[in-house]
Amino acid sequence: PVYLDYNATTPVDPRVLETMLPWFTEQFGNAASRTHLYGWTAEEAVATARKQLAKLVHVTPKEVVFTSGATEANNLAIKGVFEKKSHVGKHIITVATEHKAVLDTCHHLEQLGAEITYLVPAADGLITPQQVAEVLRSDTILVSVMYANNEIGVIQPIRDIAEVAHQAGALFHTDATQAVGKLPIDMPLEGIDLLSLSAHKLYGPKGIGALIVRSGVEIASQMDGGGHERGRRSGTLNVPGIVGLGKACEIAQKEMKSETARLAELRNHLESEILSKVPDTFVNGTTPHRLSHLTNICFENVDGENLLLSLRDVAVSTGSACTSASVLPSYVLKILGLTDDQAYASLRMSLGRFTTEEEITFAIHHIVEVVEKMRG
Ligand code: PMP
Repeated sequence: PVYLDYNATTPVDPRVLETMLPWFTEQFGNAASRTHLYGWTAEEAVATARKQLAKLVHVTPKEVVFTSGATEANNLAIKGVFEKKSHVGKHIITVATEHKAVLDTCHHLEQLGAEITYLVPAADGLITPQQVAEVLRSDTILVSVMYANNEIGVIQPIRDIAEVAHQAGALFHTDATQAVGKLPIDMPLEGIDLLSLSAHKLYGPKGIGALIVRSGVEIASQMDGGGHERGRRSGTLNVPGIVGLGKACEIAQKEMKSETARLAELRNHLESEILSKVPDTFVNGTTPHRLSHLTNICFENVDGENLLLSLRDVAVSTGSACTSASVLPSYVLKILGLTDDQAYASLRMSLGRFTTEEEITFAIHHIVEVVEKMRG
């Protein structure tokens, strides 16, 4: 089938894989081994990757903390700040449409005495800096707002929200898993204190990611042990994974601009063809402020489950892969005001580096045909 689910995960770019391979075999050293060349070589490779990642988001390498992915990075950011700051305040602000890795971390902290405010976005998926300002308190320690939503691609006004958070003395964290490598991100300029990312969303391997922690921002480690990553995340470094993440960042930085334009054109074609050829359809989320490689379309009066089952030749999703073990309608779409039926009958189509024009032409044809057949 034609793969249109790049927001769930991406294939490893062959250039990334090639860079990773030696670090499994000939160069297998432990980056923490300080007594021989095997260790030094691995440490050097990690240092290179750290620089490649740091450069992509405009920070210094020592601000990078490698983790197993964005789920761990979100846990480390939110629990790490809470543990460090709960003597100052226990209030955290986030958004109801965040990924479960943020929401469930917040639910966990509620059991430990945290007070969480879950902001509800407007029907277009956006929250405003004013909304944040209205709920900020003197005991607010953290504001956590995702950069771009995984289901609808909505890009939040990060810079303005960070500014409002800082004015009230709170730290600002963003889950930028769907934005890193897709949008230009400048952490100092945008006032981001903590940023989560994951390699497998940008053509790197699964099981590696990072939390960027700006200098001066203190977090309590959630993994204790040998004191790796300057005491912020213990555990032997995943050298091949880290090398892959670094290379993926380097490629993304070089190709982001042209790739964004290419995908926007393909996405716009896909979207406008479906909207014009299939009646009773609409796009979920704002269209001016969203990722250029994604569209989320609702097909009204169509049975969602049947729709997915009938779409045998295109790989798309409803909701996020991470929660689709449960056959519940997308909570993100429901928060935007969709009914259960509308949410079930919404398809997220996300394009990526290996998507071709032919694939999009095929996908349009297939989707139009399937929906027409279903509607009789
Ligand atoms: N946050 C967002 C916005 C995501 O899309 C994902 C992946 N679905 C995650 C966090 C979790 O990332 P990982 O798979 O690296 O744990």
